[in-house]
Amino acid sequence: MFNTPKNIRKFQCFVCARQFESFEEFVSHIVETHEEGTDYVLCPLERCKAPVRDVRSHFKVKHPTEKLPQKGMLKATVWRDVTPKGKIKKRKPKFREGWHHSTKMEKNFYYRSGYEKTVYECFDSWHEVLAYEAEPFQIPYIHEGQCHQYTPDVFIAFIDGHKEVWEVKPANQTLLEKNQNKWFSAKQACEARGWEFVVATEQVIQKLKKKVKNQFLDSPSEET
Ligand SMILES: [Zn+2]
Ligand SMILES: [Zn+2]
Repeated sequence: MFNTPKNIRKFQCFVCARQFESFEEFVSHIVETHEEGTDYVLCPLERCKAPVRDVRSHFKVKHPTEKLPQKGMLKATVWRDVTPKGKIKKRKPKFREGWHHSTKMEKNFYYRSGYEKTVYECFDSWHEVLAYEAEPFQIPYIHEGQCHQYTPDVFIAFIDGHKEVWEVKPANQTLLEKNQNKWFSAKQACEARGWEFVVATEQVIQKLKKKVKNQFLDSPSEET
């Protein structure tokens, strides 16, 4: 890429701007530190499997003669643009991140997407929710032969005594093998305690919003 000797090529993480001397270090950093689907996607070519933000433009540069696969995620959902000096320049504003103040729990919860924020707001106003906690605990799971830790998004205690653990994820990320492995372990851990494990996609969140909006009506309204 660079030919002048003073400009030694480094591999810079496109999520957090850390620099690496080798491509292998760069790859293992991204895969271990950042989240597949949200921060990066893997090139679907078996011989490549490089973490990238956009498979389509990666193919144009690295595999120009190959056909782009018609399945799987082609783009990471959050892009943080990094300047050459390593500063984080900007983030696409449509992906929201920040602190939600829970009126029910009287504490702040960090949200990493607009969906998480919506879920917290619903749990605050839904009277059937007695209490909830964000990122409540870690669950070990196996992915590609190695043990990792998975932290689900929310633990919810309902007034009737039943408990649920929620992972908030867009539907297009639910088929990723890594997520499937996390959720398999989470489901087992929850079932062993009599809790329900829920993957809350856009559809589940829409239903939740409707339920909360109509919670004090005698018969559920049909409006959307
Ligand atoms: Zn990084
Ligand atoms: Zn590739």
